Amino acid sequence: MSAPLRLMAVHAHPDDESSKGAATMARYVAEGVDVLVCTLTGGERGSILNPKMDRPDILENIGEVRRLEMERAREILGVKQRFLGFVDSGLPEDETEPLPEGCFALQPLEVAAAPLVAAVREFRPHVILTYDDDGGYPHPDHIMTNRVSVEAFEAAGDPDRYPGAGEPWQPLKLYYHMGFTKDRFEALHEAMTARGIGSPYADWIARWEDRPQKWPVTSRVPCGDYFEVRDEALLAHATQVDPDGFWFVCPRDLQREIWPTEDYHLARSLVDTELPEDDLFAGIHADEVSHASRP
Ligand SMILES: [Zn+2]
Repeated sequence: MSAPLRLMAVHAHPDDESSKGAATMARYVAEGVDVLVCTLTGGERGSILNPKMDRPDILENIGEVRRLEMERAREILGVKQRFLGFVDSGLPEDETEPLPEGCFALQPLEVAAAPLVAAVREFRPHVILTYDDDGGYPHPDHIMTNRVSVEAFEAAGDPDRYPGAGEPWQPLKLYYHMGFTKDRFEALHEAMTARGIGSPYADWIARWEDRPQKWPVTSRVPCGDYFEVRDEALLAHATQVDPDGFWFVCPRDLQREIWPTEDYHLARSLVDTELPEDDLFAGIHADEVSHASRP
């Protein structure tokens, strides 16, 4: 293929790109794919989740600190990245707590989606990655991220929608991240237990509701060779990730052996593809890419 393939990953906060689909992105970057991360909010209301970083000077400048962390993670992953300028909604303690005025999750859909539509029309991705409609976990910004991603996928190619936001562009495939599945954590838990490594997943698995997964995995992208890059990018988000915490307990070699893929649900496709897939660009042919490429 002469023209490069392009992949856009839409995320709610800086650090989400490193915990969801990071090894996939690093792999595609290594294969010459152009990858752009769009981060909808600045993560201004994130708590400090690494005890070593829980200091007043950091808390005071959290917006700037998280920008610098994102910059470092971007370099490690080899992707392009831009902030789309919304303000973090924070994670409410319970459902009755009102969201802060002006935050991302309270924006009308057309306002919230407009910068992403413009980014899609400018970057012209063939494939978009986002969260499922439950947000992957119930953070209001994650649920809103799903809504604006679906809206952008559907509207960016329509010249009558979002006029003034650039030349129409129709992405070909839309995926939801499916990394946090019960079967994956059960498999890792069993393998760790069998090897006498203390697994932190038992309580978590036990609390998991026993119901079928809402969005079945359709696509498993082999990316075990990039787990180091993923972990390094995660660690770059030092305020959000405890190096002695949950993320890094399971040895990488064991992950590579037991679960060497990152997994997705193909939510929309305008191309024919055979499921299950092992490539997010499956079914996208050279003619579509060159037709779709910049002049
Ligand atoms: Zn997030």
